[in-house]
Amino acid sequence: MAKVPAFHSKKPSDRNVYHDNDKCTEGNNIERQNKVPGTGGRPQCEHCKRLG
Ligand SMILES: [Zn+2]
Repeated sequence: MAKVPAFHSKKPSDRNVYHDNDKCTEGNNIERQNKVPGTGGRPQCEHCKRLG
């Protein structure tokens, strides 16, 4: 597992969480154009939390 800098999706239909692990499927599914760096003041994705 690898920690990456926090990022989130600006797509309104995506969940209001941030991701910080490169093994998170949900984070990896965010299209490049919707990826925004930083937490956006959102809670951490629970998959990323579990991954470490
Ligand atoms: Zn995640």
